Amino acid sequence: MTSIGFIGLGHMGGPMAANLVKAGHAVKGFDLAQPLLDQASKNGVTACTSLAEAVEDVDTVITMLPAGKHVLSVWQELVAAVPSSTLLIDCSTIDIDSARKAHELAAGKGCPSLDAPVSGGTGGAAAGTLTFMIGGEQQAFADAAPIFQAMGKKIIHCGGASAGQAAKICNNMILGISMIAVGEAFVLGEKLGLSHQALFDVASVSSGQCWSLTTYCPVPGPVPASPANNDYKPGFAGALMLKDLKLSQEAAAASGATTPLGAKAAELYQMFNDIGHADTDFSGIINLLREKSADL
Ligand code: NAD
Repeated sequence: MTSIGFIGLGHMGGPMAANLVKAGHAVKGFDLAQPLLDQASKNGVTACTSLAEAVEDVDTVITMLPAGKHVLSVWQELVAAVPSSTLLIDCSTIDIDSARKAHELAAGKGCPSLDAPVSGGTGGAAAGTLTFMIGGEQQAFADAAPIFQAMGKKIIHCGGASAGQAAKICNNMILGISMIAVGEAFVLGEKLGLSHQALFDVASVSSGQCWSLTTYCPVPGPVPASPANNDYKPGFAGALMLKDLKLSQEAAAASGATTPLGAKAAELYQMFNDIGHADTDFSGIINLLREKSADL
């Protein structure tokens, strides 16, 4: 049993903290929103009224926050509050630069630290089936394994500091691009008089096969569990896809990588968000492609 301070009890952090309690860990939680603290308390988390209270006398601190600026501000407070043996883990999806700075803050205090972003969404957070992509020292990774196992199914050590964020950003850039590619193929197929099912039956067993087609098909019918069958209710919202694509483009610019399709995908998801689809599942981008197609 580990004693854990959990900061950020939102859509992801709330159920992740609840799963740590279920696995027998002692969890103290803090969030700026009182209703989330009340909900966490119902799930067996000890609700705290300050960050300092939540991290007092714990072995490990986990943060699950919106963006890099929140993580850096919280980690600055953290390193002032905890002793140097405390393991610090950030599970948020943030930019590479902030992730590196967070590791530096921890190292300055002598605290072991990991970046550990996740994929699997709110469903995976609730079910305890998240995938963790982890950057940091091997020893810290080994020490934290039981904690990740309580919240996830696949736990992958990607390399040193910030390698987890790098893997997350690269994976989601593939996802954003491939969802647009699949959407374009269905829209072109419609124009050519091809049924959705026929295109699916061919592409799902041919070289066009990919997750965006076979697990998350953006038209209703071929994959009954995909958000297209539920009016594009997320799932993974357009706002989160845009956030991750912007992170990929920041990282590409800073590292000198050429990612023209990533840049175009960011542009299209910006348009998708701007016309009111921030809360629509990202696979709904097919409707934007359809609307932009000409009637000939
Ligand atoms: P969320 O907005 O629901 O939760 C973030 C929480 O952090 C909020 O409850 C907020 O009150 C709290 N917070 C902000 N500043 C704080 C502070 N200083 N002290 C304490 N609490 C503070 O967001 P979420 O959907 O849970 O996502 C969290 C992270 O996980 C993000 O980085 C997101 O990109 C990533 N992520 C989300 C999903 C998803 O499907 N929602 C999937 C994968 C990764």
